[in-house]
Amino acid sequence: MKTDQQLDCPSAPHQHPEARLLGVVLEEAGEARVAYVEKDTALPEDFDPGSLGIDPGHALRFAAPCANRGCGQWRDGACGLGKAIIEQLAPVVDVAPACTLRQTCRWYAENGKASCLRCPQITTRVHPSKAVRVPRSFYGPQRPNPIPSPASGPARGEAVL
Ligand code: SF4
Repeated sequence: MKTDQQLDCPSAPHQHPEARLLGVVLEEAGEARVAYVEKDTALPEDFDPGSLGIDPGHALRFAAPCANRGCGQWRDGACGLGKAIIEQLAPVVDVAPACTLRQTCRWYAENGKASCLRCPQITTRVHPSKAVRVPRSFYGPQRPNPIPSPASGPARGEAVL
């Protein structure tokens, strides 16, 4: 992994000031499946999440510069969420999907293709019963989030990946 490179979070909140569209969440046999956009797509300045009629975290996937230590998912010098996904979820595809983020994706940089084979089932917001849990016990203290992050207080009763 290149440590001098600014990596991107592949499941960023749409409120991130540099959020760009990564994919659209579709459904396949009752399960979420992300269709990745073919071009890097910045959100328009007048993007109004309220106009979707659904929380964007359910319907869309966004990428944004990784906040590193500033994110509540940061564990032991890496993305705890990316690692937890590998450990807790099974692959859902046989081939890494074509996506626009691979060169700078935090999960891919740290975990390789194993992340990509699980990535299409990830939605940023999910019911708590389906949430991937990032272990806290064997990692150091967390820092407060300076920007919105997947771990910063979602809407009532919802968890985030
Ligand atoms: S498919 Fe792989 S490279 Fe693309 S966002 Fe998902 S984990 Fe990152």
